[in-house]
Formats: sequence, C-alpha cells, structure tokens
Amino acid sequence: MHALNTHPPTKTGPHMLSVEEAQACILQAISPVSTHERISLRQGLGRILATPVMARLDVPSHRNSAMDGYAFRHIDTDIHKAFHVAGVSMAGHPFYGTLDIGQCVRIMTGAVVPADADTVVMQEHVSQEGDIITLQWIPPPGANVRHPGEDLCAGDVVLPAGRKLNAADLGLLASQGISEVDVLRHPRIAFFSTGDELKGIGESLQPGDVYDSNRYTLFGMLGKLDVDILDLGVIPDRQEAVEQAFVQASQLADVVITSGGASVGDADYVTDTLRKTGTVDFWKIAVKPGKPLAFGKLNDRCLFFGLPGNPVSVMATFLLFARPAILKLRGDGVTKLPEYRAMCDTPLQKAPGRKDYQRGVCHLDEEGQWHVRSTGMQGSHILRSMSAANCFIVLPLLAGDVKAGEAVNIIPFHELL
Ligand code: AMP
Ligand code: MG
Repeated sequence: MHALNTHPPTKTGPHMLSVEEAQACILQAISPVSTHERISLRQGLGRILATPVMARLDVPSHRNSAMDGYAFRHIDTDIHKAFHVAGVSMAGHPFYGTLDIGQCVRIMTGAVVPADADTVVMQEHVSQEGDIITLQWIPPPGANVRHPGEDLCAGDVVLPAGRKLNAADLGLLASQGISEVDVLRHPRIAFFSTGDELKGIGESLQPGDVYDSNRYTLFGMLGKLDVDILDLGVIPDRQEAVEQAFVQASQLADVVITSGGASVGDADYVTDTLRKTGTVDFWKIAVKPGKPLAFGKLNDRCLFFGLPGNPVSVMATFLLFARPAILKLRGDGVTKLPEYRAMCDTPLQKAPGRKDYQRGVCHLDEEGQWHVRSTGMQGSHILRSMSAANCFIVLPLLAGDVKAGEAVNIIPFHELL
C-alpha cells in the first residue's frame, strides 16, 4: 500500500474535504490484496482472477454443424440437386466413411462434419424421398459449418488477471476443461461498535440505552461485497478495552471499521487510542449525512475507517468511502457508484455547503424516465429513512432547495444493501 497522504487538499473551506477528494485520498492509499488461492471452478463465481487463464484447446475442437440437416460437397451441386444419404453424423457419433460424388450425410447440430463435406443445408430446405434428398435451395459454400477455434484458439488468453468471474466465464473455463482457478483471497473486514449506551439484542435496555443497530447494517452491506467478515461486538468506553480491541482487530483483519465515538474533536477513548496507536486522520467532509470520518492505518498494513455513530451516517459513509476502498482491496476495477438522472416529484430542502445524500424512492415510468420522491424526515438518526428508500438523491455541494419537477441525480441501492 502507498504511504497515506496525511494532509489532503482542501477546497471547500478550512479543514473540509469534498466527497470526491476524500474518495480519491482513500483509493490512492489502497492496493489490491496480493495473495492467491486455488479454488474449484464453481466456487469462483464473483471472485477475481489472480492470474490470466490461457486456452489449452481449440473450441470447438472439430468442424461441426450449426444446424440439423445434410452435409455435402458444394462443388457437387454443379451437376446434382439430389443427393444420396450415405450415413449419419450425430453429436458424439461421427460418420467415419467417405462420400462419393452426389452423396451426403444426415447431420445433427454439433456433429462432426465429415472430411469430404464442406457445406450443410438445413433440413427445412430439402425434400426427402427414401434415402434421396433434393435441395430446394442451394446454400452458399461453407454454410452452417463451424470451424475449430472459432470460439477460442489454444494459446489465446481466455480471461485476463483481474477479471471478476461471472456465469459466462465459468462456462468458458469449463469449455476448456479447467476445473480450478487462481483467485485473489478475500479481504478480511473486522468491525465493532463503541459506546456504553449500546446493548446487544437480548440484553435489557436501561434508561438512555439503545440497541446496537450499526453492526447489523454493516454486516448486511459487507455481506454484499464477498469478503470475510469478523464481528467484534460492542466495545465499552474504557481505555484498555478500546486499545485491546484495536490491537486484536488489526492483527486479524485487512480493514477495521468502527462506528461512533470518533467524531472530530471528540475527547473520547477511540480518538485518543487512534492518535496513539495508528496513523489515522480525522477528516471533516462536506457531506450530509456523515461529516466526520476517521481514515488511516492501525499498523503498516491494516486500514481503518472510523465511521460516525448515527445509524444513517454509518450507512452513507460506509457506501461512499469504505465500500470503494474494500472493492479496490478485493481487486475490483470499478468502485464508483453509478448515478442516473431523475425527475424529482417532491420538493427537497437543502442548504448549500455540503453534498447531500438524501433518501428517496425511485421508479422508472413507462416512457423510461426515472422519477424520485423523498422518504420524508432526513435526520441521520432516522434509520427508517434508509429502510424505506431504494436510492440516494445526490444533491451537489452548492445546490440549495429543489423544486418539484427539477432534475436530480440518484444512486439506486440495488446491489448495495
Ligand atoms: P457517537 O458518534 O458515538 O457520538 O454517536 C452518535 C449517535 O449515534 C448517538 O446517538 C449514539 O447513541 C448513536 N449510535 C452510535 N453507535 C450506534 C450503534 N452501534 N447503533 C445505534 N446507534 C448508535
Ligand atoms: Mg458514542
């Protein structure tokens, strides 16, 4: 990994980073995991190839028919329109005989085209009487014959390193007789919550307590990323407990994510411990929800994200900053969330100065136009606004209120949550 840029540029005001600047600083600090593992082909779905895969075979390996029909020598049509059916070539059962002038073989899709034949006529284009067929139409020379190596030639790069394997890729590799693939190992992501007010499900709530929901939203969002997850629970607000948790987590994981307690200027144990044990910056980002973010390293290898505590802020900052980092770490080339233009059907309140990620409900109308409306209350503690939403409404840094009917950008949650 590269050295961290501990003093990122600020354009949006003193000590305020734009979302894009923060994202760029984070991505710049990350290189993909480098260790490989060999796994069976089916386990490879969604994994990233560590080494290129070369073709061992021509696919197809033999000349074969693209149709059910009759294989013949095209030059014979100079004198014949009628052919004697001398044999059959079925898929997996080639015709081993030879063809005299005016002879053809019955052939099925995928079956080997006999060495003497060069053209296949579809069965729909012949009339048949006994073992004589008559061509109703003469296809061009070479019609309906598939050649060896048309799909892949031995020595070709089948798939390059860095490829995220999809269903088509699994089939392509299987067509080469490849049963195992070399993929990048899964990054290990540890996370914990901090705060004396947090209780686990099943515990009883005392006055002022809340159930820890952040570990569940994080669990869910990480679950979408094909990484190994380590839930380290709730860490109480005690110096030794926090220190111990950081040391333990940094030994186990590639990335440690915490929520709560690391706000800029917070004089709490998380902030103090980070300043002591790691190289972590505390950033103010011009974003809503989720202005404070801590980012850096706990040791020379383990990345750290200190997310805000409020439930919506955790989700937004995870998706905007931690998710792209984890994607890059796991070897994914594309880390940017796609945005679409949508007509905003409800007015939105927005103060200039921060980039807003409001919660919205979007749909595509019959004309193919996206529409979006607000989920209502947008407080960073209103987790229901995330649950009710199916997209973020992205409002630029300098934008003010949005009127109904204006165009806005949206980021659908599809695949994120
Ligand atoms: P903090 O960043 O620690 O000051 O927390 C900000 C707000 O988020 C407070 O109301 C916390 O109680 C709440 N909060 C922090 N962590 C969690 C959590 N894991 N689950 C639910 N709420 C939390
Ligand atoms: Mg707290």
